[in-house]
Amino acid sequence: MKIVILLGAPGCGKGTMAGRLSASNPTFHHVSSGDLLRTAVKTQSPHGLEADGFMKRGELVPDSLIAQMIAEYMVTLPNECTLLLDGFPRTLIQAEMLDKALAGSRATLTHVVLLDVPDPILIDRIAGRRVCPACGAGYHVVSIPSKVAGLCDVCGTTLVVRKDDNPKTVQYRLEVYKAQTMPLVAYYDARGLLTRITAYDFPINDIVEKLRHVIS
Ligand code: AMP
Repeated sequence: MKIVILLGAPGCGKGTMAGRLSASNPTFHHVSSGDLLRTAVKTQSPHGLEADGFMKRGELVPDSLIAQMIAEYMVTLPNECTLLLDGFPRTLIQAEMLDKALAGSRATLTHVVLLDVPDPILIDRIAGRRVCPACGAGYHVVSIPSKVAGLCDVCGTTLVVRKDDNPKTVQYRLEVYKAQTMPLVAYYDARGLLTRITAYDFPINDIVEKLRHVIS
């Protein structure tokens, strides 16, 4: 298994990029740590009950909790695939946990891609973000509108704003990203694994193709 980590602030497009790559190629598997957690919260699993309060406040959930959920997900995947990790790792401790889990396994971390987007654009993207609560499809009211306003193209469910996408929590999540996740840029750069992609000011498909080129 090849592993690609997508790094970047909330709203940088990690989920959109990974979703498009995996839709276009069945050997790509996309896992979003945020989606795993939201499903766990929705189904009120023990992991979800533990994560709920942290997520509502825009804080990171405990490292061991999310690392365990990712490990449980990875064992369900076929060996011959490329796993696109979206949202994990998000702290140095998580990165070290991942390194330990990969040592001696058949999985190899091949690329870490930083999707670079300035703060004002991130804030604007998050303000316009809509998600389908049933199938998880993501939209933006301006840049990725659904065909019928307010309804999911895939399953017709009414789109919603994520609970943690309110302006107050967003500002805090950006601070958390800078304090806890940005150190990963230097961590992976020092190992020669990091590529930066400018992930704004170009059509989404161009950014997806740039990403595909980098990781193939
Ligand atoms: P996201 O969908 O990636 O924006 O994540 C939404 C929320 O889930 C975050 O604000 C955190 O509360 C939690 N979360 C997602 N991934 C992680 C992670 N790797 N470590 C800790 N918390 C996470």
